[in-house]
Amino acid sequence: MSELTRMTATQIAALIAGGDASAVEVTRAHLDRIAAVDDRVHAFLHVDSEGALDAARAVDARRAAGEALGPLAGVPIAVKDVVTTRGVPTTAGSKILEGWRPPYDATIVERLRAAGMPMLGKTNMDEFAMGSSTEYSAYGPSYNPWDLTRIPGGSGGGSSAAISAYEAPLAIGTDTGGSIRQPGAVTGTVGAKPTYGGTSRYGLIAFSSSLDTPGPCARTVEDAALLHAVIAGHDPRDSTSIPAPVPAVVEAARRGATGDLTGMKLGLVTQFAGEGAEPGVMAAFRDAVDALTKLGAEVVEVSCPHFEYALPAYYLIAPSECSSNLARFDGVRFGLRVGDDGVKSLEEVMSLTRDAGFGPEVKRRIMLGTYALSSGYYDAYYGQAQKVRTLITRDFTAAFEQVDALISPTTPFVAFPLGARTSDPYQMYLADLYTIPTNLYGGPAISVPCGLSEGLPVGLQVMAPTMADDRMYRVAAALESAIGTLTPPAL
Ligand code: GLN
Repeated sequence: MSELTRMTATQIAALIAGGDASAVEVTRAHLDRIAAVDDRVHAFLHVDSEGALDAARAVDARRAAGEALGPLAGVPIAVKDVVTTRGVPTTAGSKILEGWRPPYDATIVERLRAAGMPMLGKTNMDEFAMGSSTEYSAYGPSYNPWDLTRIPGGSGGGSSAAISAYEAPLAIGTDTGGSIRQPGAVTGTVGAKPTYGGTSRYGLIAFSSSLDTPGPCARTVEDAALLHAVIAGHDPRDSTSIPAPVPAVVEAARRGATGDLTGMKLGLVTQFAGEGAEPGVMAAFRDAVDALTKLGAEVVEVSCPHFEYALPAYYLIAPSECSSNLARFDGVRFGLRVGDDGVKSLEEVMSLTRDAGFGPEVKRRIMLGTYALSSGYYDAYYGQAQKVRTLITRDFTAAFEQVDALISPTTPFVAFPLGARTSDPYQMYLADLYTIPTNLYGGPAISVPCGLSEGLPVGLQVMAPTMADDRMYRVAAALESAIGTLTPPAL
């Protein structure tokens, strides 16, 4: 394996800026690595070698011309396949979009291009980002580089597997209920969900519009912060985008890396510190809490009594929004069309297309959401879930009057074997028990590796108030300075 693929994004950018490696060499090294291991990892649904090399050549030319380069110029990136990329296939992990090449770039992709970051390809995911293992991808699962018989998390398992397997130094994920953080936790990588509205949703294929948040996946906290700074910031094309300056996340990560948390007060969520998690996960988490204390943080317990209703509220709100968002896949405007024989009615063609194009989990959510929104049940289900959402937000607000940030394990269990949870949807939903409250509230949260349980990675989650994304990076970087990064066994 080329040394270039072992480096952090920060190191790669410095090499390129200093003229010690070309962007083309760096991109080639990663494309070679993909060619060598991706038949076993299956992180990618599409590899865009030509597009990536063209972008790398452009960076090298700008450098040769003496132009100023951005902080991540020449650093290759993998992008979750739910994000539209002009001319490059985008499927959202679904058969219904097979072969679709979007006519436009998502805002975050425009920003990656402007930053001179070659896009290696599109990563595998659970269909329409619904799932926690990538086993609901219509194109087959991805595999965890720590143990190829286990899941790499989901829905963004392709992105987490790609960076964990050294196929890419950085990746883009999207987090609706935990799909950046949980894959980060189970692959021993860093995953950050920015404040809702802090990163643009324009060009993101919508799952649950009031929750969807794109964000960075990386192997170090500083790398995640650098990528966050590239993609974040106001976008007039997204009506929920926040018109405010991006929090100083890179500075916060560097400050955290000095390992001093004096004056920082952290709240251990009572509801997530007891039972429910595997003993090995709780043990690694408790050791990490001790480490945070040694770094100078004061750790107290904080009760968030409504967090235990987050999962049921999420599984009404997210399916309700998805049932509306996915109505656009009707066999007329995008991708797949089935049964259009000139005889069947429009309604029959739509029905046949949706039956053939959507997988079982997507159908389950559309049915649940349609039911929850139907007249007569709306108040009892959707309305009630929205009230719970308000109570959870109040829990966060009250907690942040007492502490600077909240901490918990990221997910209750380490990477499970493929197939272990597919027969019982509820068991799969439990993977996001600790990550979902943050999405309902809208604040930022990050997962950072905090140790191993039975040889598999465990993540610690830091949750901060809305628009205090810098604070979570500071805490995460401090923990990383004490614990170090995790290296998977060689593939
Ligand atoms: N696993 C959760 C779900 O299935 C979260 C998915 C996500 O964040 N996209 O809905």
